[in-house]
Amino acid sequence: MSRVLHGISVDVEDWYQSTIDASAPLSDRFRSSTRKVLEALDAGGTRATFFVLGLAAEKDGDAVRQIVAAGHEVQSHGYGHVEVFKLSAEEFRQDLLRAKGLLEDLTGRAIFGYRAPSFSVDLRTPWALETLAETGHRYDSSIFPIKMSRYGVDGYPPQPRIVTTERGRRIIEAPIACFHWLGKRLPVGGGGYFRLLPYPIIRRAFGQLDRIARPGVIYFHPYEYDGAEMGSFKGRVSPLIRLHQGLGRKGFAGKIDRLMRDFRLGPLQDMLSELLGQLDRP
Ligand SMILES: [Zn+2]
Repeated sequence: MSRVLHGISVDVEDWYQSTIDASAPLSDRFRSSTRKVLEALDAGGTRATFFVLGLAAEKDGDAVRQIVAAGHEVQSHGYGHVEVFKLSAEEFRQDLLRAKGLLEDLTGRAIFGYRAPSFSVDLRTPWALETLAETGHRYDSSIFPIKMSRYGVDGYPPQPRIVTTERGRRIIEAPIACFHWLGKRLPVGGGGYFRLLPYPIIRRAFGQLDRIARPGVIYFHPYEYDGAEMGSFKGRVSPLIRLHQGLGRKGFAGKIDRLMRDFRLGPLQDMLSELLGQLDRP
């Protein structure tokens, strides 16, 4: 068993609304997939952080209550799943406050952690951490420390750390896990890479993080537990997108099961407390 506690997180949202069309209504599929994720985590004896989209919480408040009842951490994935770089600072603030209020009412707890839609906190949004800190968020896990086609910041410090904003506010940034291979930094915390990489490589990557005592953040979505979803979009979504988005879903749950057996995984709030000391919550 490893020494480092890695963070495991689930972004609760609906695939079509979050990936294809932010103005679309949420389908029902995320409800059953969220319950599958809860069962898998329960079987693995693992608690996680659920970053819940405000729209999803509005549609299925029971799911949020079940997540809390199972002992997991609930934090915010914002309200409407519009990328932060498409919003003004003021629109971002409104989106954050709406999600925070909704989730605090549902859970009866302070919401102080945030994950942006599609890792959209990057060089285009230099005001984002300030707005997060200003609205009572103590940590953020929205920066992808590798430049990808749609998001990411090249060379961003991969270790979770405290950032001081321009106006002197403090907020913790916990970037998504990456590892070093053949002189390159590669993503391993989730998404297409995680779905396609064979498990032994994922295990090696987290073994590397253990050796350098760096906690890594893992993320996934309930829809990655839904192997049949892409078939339901035949004729509505292009074959290329369906192929790309559906690849690796079949073996996905098995990889998370094995990670839970091979490594110490827990909610981000626990990971950050172990690393940086007790978080003072707002
Ligand atoms: Zn999302």
